[in-house]
Amino acid sequence: MYSSMTVREISSAGRMRDRLKILVLGGTGDAVAMATEAAEKFDITYSLAGRTSHPALPDGVTIRTGGFGGPHALADWLGENNIGAVIDATHPFAERIAAHTAQACSATHTPRLKLTRPAWDETADDTWHRVPDIAAAASLLPTLGARAFLSIGRQELGAFAAMEGVQLLIRSIDLPGNTDRLPRAVYITGRGPFTTAQESALLREHDINVLVSKNAGGAATYAKIVAARMADVPVVMINRPTAPPSPIVSDVGAAIAWLESRLG
Ligand code: NAP
Repeated sequence: MYSSMTVREISSAGRMRDRLKILVLGGTGDAVAMATEAAEKFDITYSLAGRTSHPALPDGVTIRTGGFGGPHALADWLGENNIGAVIDATHPFAERIAAHTAQACSATHTPRLKLTRPAWDETADDTWHRVPDIAAAASLLPTLGARAFLSIGRQELGAFAAMEGVQLLIRSIDLPGNTDRLPRAVYITGRGPFTTAQESALLREHDINVLVSKNAGGAATYAKIVAARMADVPVVMINRPTAPPSPIVSDVGAAIAWLESRLG
């Protein structure tokens, strides 16, 4: 005869087995928060590209790492793993995975939601020069300042390789490999969130007179924008690429509510 505790365990194990399977495409702070919270109710697989050496990870989820091999392979993976919905919580500049996810979900009729923070807006006290991409940022930069802080990650630094006359301070979560490093650059590592005091101190220490940033949105990396405003430093602001059309939410609670309303 089972004790009441054993019966609860059996019924809990049954619920675990029956829970709906969700794929969360991660790589952002919101993705970690969303996956951790959703794991209370759903069976979450959290997917990373695998580029960061010590990524922040959610609790109570299955982690998978590495590309799927393109949209068709992702579609196959969704079917093989019986995925009921996909939350694309990747960075707003992660264009390829967003497009591949849209294609794979469309092909498999899998509901898809984009979780992303609204883009930042320029205030009256900011001096922004909006550009469409990294290449445009690199061509504009020398006209604005001689000591630039690049806060754009480490994957697209090559666009600045031919630029002359600008001293670069480059911050990324992991250092770029030796072959990707540019001459005349100082490299530092750091992972947000940063405070305004920290960012102001960094601008002062390196005598920065122009900042290059992606319009990532959210609070975790906004302090550099505030610090630039306070120091009258102009910002080369790289606009977001256009995302594939989809339902979109900007906070974790709304993403969970979408899952509950779609999947019960
Ligand atoms: P990307 O250019 O859109 O993706 C390149 C390839 O990496 C994709 O085609 C896919 O490979 C794989 N991939 C990307 N994200 C993945 C994920 N979450 N799970 C499994 N595979 C993934 O993306 P990216 O700009 O290199 O960004 C990679 C990751 O870093 C993303 O998760 C993103 O959230 C994060 N991140 C990016 C930025 C940025 O500025 N781009 C900033 C902060 C964080 P397959 O085609 O083989 O599936």
